[in-house]
Amino acid sequence: MIYDVVIIGAGPGGMTAALYAARSNLSVLLLEKGLPGGQMNNTAEIENYPGFESILGPDLSMKMLAGTEKFDVALKYDTVEKIEEEDALKKVVGSNETYLSRTVIIATGAVHRTLNVEGEEKYSGMGVSYCAVCDGAFFRNKELLVVGGGDSAVEEAIYLTQFASKVTIVHRRDALRAQKIIQERAFNNEKIFFEWDAVIDEIKGDAMKVTSAILKNPKTGETKEVSADGVFIYVGLDPITEPFLDLGIVNDQGWIETDNRMRTAVSGIFAIGDVREKELRQITTAVGDGSIAGQEAYKYIEELSTITV
Ligand code: FAD
Ligand code: NAP
Repeated sequence: MIYDVVIIGAGPGGMTAALYAARSNLSVLLLEKGLPGGQMNNTAEIENYPGFESILGPDLSMKMLAGTEKFDVALKYDTVEKIEEEDALKKVVGSNETYLSRTVIIATGAVHRTLNVEGEEKYSGMGVSYCAVCDGAFFRNKELLVVGGGDSAVEEAIYLTQFASKVTIVHRRDALRAQKIIQERAFNNEKIFFEWDAVIDEIKGDAMKVTSAILKNPKTGETKEVSADGVFIYVGLDPITEPFLDLGIVNDQGWIETDNRMRTAVSGIFAIGDVREKELRQITTAVGDGSIAGQEAYKYIEELSTITV
């Protein structure tokens, strides 16, 4: 079968693109390597998606997925390894199957960074976590460290206070990067403490779990050991672009460059959401990108058929 649109990644961007393309009567295949919803599955409460005062990330994921099902979008679980051009078509090579399509929308998003310090990998799943919504409930009445100063670290630290007895945000500078409203909530939360000008040098533990971490002041080099039952790491994201490096659409920083119609340098290939070079990486902006790309894929196919006739 030749699809009109193959969308790689079923995060909010990909699911919106699927909805728009399918509502334009295009045949749409959505490919996902993990769970539909993308990063929203790792998010507890979302308070800045219009229409919902507050909604849990996994719930919003399921609502968006239901929207695509209503318009007969095909969903397959596969990991895309590369895209090749074959005549006027795109060949999307997955680890299970190869798919042919007239257009491709890349919506692979981004993945959390690691600290790359001693003990991080060893204690991953034994106290080291990158997902408060997945693992928070295991830390009732425990003491936690949350690393980072951005929206994710501060928001997830607040979320963790409903389980933990004490949450300490470890930040490498003396000022947070997170939005002001999120900062205020953290400053006003009596269970949240701060270690400013501090990075994690090592995560330590026994045979079963994390017990402490060595903090280092990057300015003075001073170190100290603090006890901790868990370490949640939120130090930013890296775009998932490895499968597309051969296409020449990825910039030096690793993001995919597009114009404001979501078109990449390769005709018929679009990119949307967090994987794209842009200012603000949010659910709303991924959804906005997705709607544009769904519509642009339709226009592209219309133009192709005009040329053929
Ligand atoms: P993603 O959500 O990253 O989805 C990409 C999808 O592509 C994933 O499902 C992935 O498995 C899949 N994929 C990747 N590679 C492949 C491949 N090779 N083959 C097949 N599938 C692949 N934003 C807000 O607006 N409000 C918030 O409150 C908020 N909270 C957040 C909290 C946390 C902890 C984090 C990490 C982010 C938060 N964000 C929030 C940001 C928001 O989640 C992202 O901006 C948004 O999810 C980006 O959507 P996306 O569709 O571009 O990519
Ligand atoms: P981010 O904004 O890039 O912040 C990463 C944080 O980690 C920064 O504070 C950074 O410090 C710190 N950091 C980076 N590398 C580090 C290292 N090696 N060691 C110690 N600290 C390190 O990433 P994010 O918070 O994950 O957010 C990602 C995107 O999702 C953003 O666009 C964000 O707005 C969005 N998001 C939105 C919401 C929301 O709207 N409610 C919630 C979560 C995420 P510096 O500050 O010194 O650079």
